[in-house]
Amino acid sequence: MRMKVIGLIGGMSWESTLEYYRIINESVRDELRGLHSAKCVLYSVDFAEVAELQRQGQWAEAAQLLTSAAQSVEKAGADFVLICTNTMHKLAILIQAGIGIPLLHIADATAEKVKQAGLQRVGLLGTRFTMEDGFYRDRLTNQHGLQVVIPNPEDRANVHRIIYEELCVGTIRPESKVQLAGIMSRLVEMGAQGIILGCTELGLLLDAGDTHVPLFETTRLHALAAVEYALQPQANEALHA
Ligand code: GLU
Repeated sequence: MRMKVIGLIGGMSWESTLEYYRIINESVRDELRGLHSAKCVLYSVDFAEVAELQRQGQWAEAAQLLTSAAQSVEKAGADFVLICTNTMHKLAILIQAGIGIPLLHIADATAEKVKQAGLQRVGLLGTRFTMEDGFYRDRLTNQHGLQVVIPNPEDRANVHRIIYEELCVGTIRPESKVQLAGIMSRLVEMGAQGIILGCTELGLLLDAGDTHVPLFETTRLHALAAVEYALQPQANEALHA
């Protein structure tokens, strides 16, 4: 069996890319045992540049930046690629169009687990782009048949602030954990049967003890889906964005 080379576009933020690297390698070790570790290529961007483009709404420029990173990863020998952030999947279709290897979409990896758990209605936490723009919710709904609930505007602003001002700069605050637990319980009141942690840093702060419904941590699910794909003897299925 040839282990496929996993391409990672990371650095958004590097705090969560570290988690990807750790989970991917732990999972390969669990599967193959001994001294085995993952074959991967990582292109880690400067998140300040990306976050500024997001703030200015310069999505075409952001797409260029990430497409060029994906092309570098492809040239370096990756067999497929992961964008290690939910938010930048806003550009997944454009990035996929610029490369010749498949892109493994974070929302698909997550939705599969939600469906396996037998849930139909999920709450979504993430940046305001992920919660409010159509790219993520529509994929969950149209391609996976899930119903998605998002927090009210004030709660959305708080989740967004905690992500950029705290988690992406490595700050873990117990008050924010309590605040997010409150936001999750309001999503449950709105009918959510589970919660998608749709930001790759949220798992740094939240865990299963913060809510009584199942949590779907996108970082972990995306990383595990990558290992599963990398270790498939013959993966013929398309992973197109
Ligand atoms: N890592 C975060 C996410 O999963 C937010 C950072 C970003 O804007 O890419 O959406």
